[in-house]
Order: sequence, then C-alpha cells, then structure tokens
Amino acid sequence: MPKIIKELPSTVTEVDADGRATIKPMSWKLVPPPKDHCLVCARKHPPEDPHDVQQIYYQTCFQAMVGRPATWADAMAHCSDKIKRVWTEVLHKTGHWSEPPNGEAPVKHHGVE
Ligand SMILES: [Zn+2]
Repeated sequence: MPKIIKELPSTVTEVDADGRATIKPMSWKLVPPPKDHCLVCARKHPPEDPHDVQQIYYQTCFQAMVGRPATWADAMAHCSDKIKRVWTEVLHKTGHWSEPPNGEAPVKHHGVE
C-alpha cells in the first residue's frame, strides 16, 4: 500500500542585500489525492495497471523525489510482466513509449511506497 506524500523536498535561493545568494533546503506541502484515486498518480485506475505518467501530480512528485521526469517504464514498474508486455507494445505502436535515460533502471518506488 503506497504512503501519501505530504512534502516534496526542494531548495530556495535567498539573496542578501549584498547580492550573495544562499541556497537553503525547503519543502512543498502537498494536498493528497482524493481517497478513491491512486495515491501515487492521483488518477482512478486499477492498482495492477500502470500509473498515469501524464498526471501532473505523478510528474511533480516523481521529479522532486528522483530528480528527473517519470517515464512510462517507471509508471509500469510495479505491474506484472503480462501487463508490462501489453502496455509496452501499445505505447511503442502509438509512439508514446518513454524510458529512463542512459540505461537507468525504471523507478518503481519513488519514496512513497
Ligand atoms: Zn497510479
């Protein structure tokens, strides 16, 4: 069962009167998805299906936790091999397939599960 993300790590740059910039850690508070929606991507879908990589909630959380945009390979990393095969084939055929850069492994848990 995924945990709800309550805060996203980030940084803020403060500039003093002399123009010196200081980067400090900060975080963004998040409003959780509705109770009947997926807690990872904030869309209604069966838990065995891929997350919706086009959801702004999923992309924002993933980017903050992993440091790069989520891809379809990440969104289906938790799926069975059969579901991965079907979705991968359709996404390739429609030209929508995406995967992590530089041979990185897909990220199944981006700090929320
Ligand atoms: Zn989801």
